[in-house]
Amino acid sequence: MAYMLLAEDDELLANGLSKTLRHSGHKIDQVRTGLDVSAATSANAYDLVILDLGLPDTDGLIVLEQLRKDGRTLPVLILTARDAPEDRIRGLDLGANDYLCKPFNVGELEARIRALLRKEKWANRVEIKSGSLVFDTVANKFFIDNEQVDLSAREFVILEMLLQRKGRVVFKNEIIEHLFNLDKDMTNNALDIVVHRLRKKLDKSGCIIQTVKGLGFIIE
Ligand code: CA
Repeated sequence: MAYMLLAEDDELLANGLSKTLRHSGHKIDQVRTGLDVSAATSANAYDLVILDLGLPDTDGLIVLEQLRKDGRTLPVLILTARDAPEDRIRGLDLGANDYLCKPFNVGELEARIRALLRKEKWANRVEIKSGSLVFDTVANKFFIDNEQVDLSAREFVILEMLLQRKGRVVFKNEIIEHLFNLDKDMTNNALDIVVHRLRKKLDKSGCIIQTVKGLGFIIE
């Protein structure tokens, strides 16, 4: 699932494409001019832009150039009727991440979108550490000395919360609210028991979950 901007002035194509992508679970904003692209990308944190080159007000390549000049690094997939190699080369040189010519196969477009989003995810891969405990945010796994830690769903959620907010107190009621989907009956006492089990599993890692009395927990 991704939040995408579709810049395309051909209404029929744009509506059809938005419908397909929404059907695949994505959130789509639709614009039809280059000016709208600048406004929309300043206002929203998109995961990807699908950019037509033949926009009514500005050439899509100029829109792309401006995006990169403004420091926006999000993936841009150019969608265009221009299939001359010079256009492709220029588009890629200006910082497009992919280039697809009209008419195109929607299945191929979706596969390319998936590939771009995957690349972006790996590029943003983050490892959060505490002692020898490592949380890999892409693999969504915890490791101690490179060995995966076996955690229950509740333990996983709690440890992720604490580690994502390392150095700050995480309140018990926040954890209980966060766990609501997993366990509607989680109580303060039950939470203490889960944290106790979690501490045992982290025993040799040097990652210490401290109790902040009356409030919650913290990993320093
Ligand atoms: Ca067009």
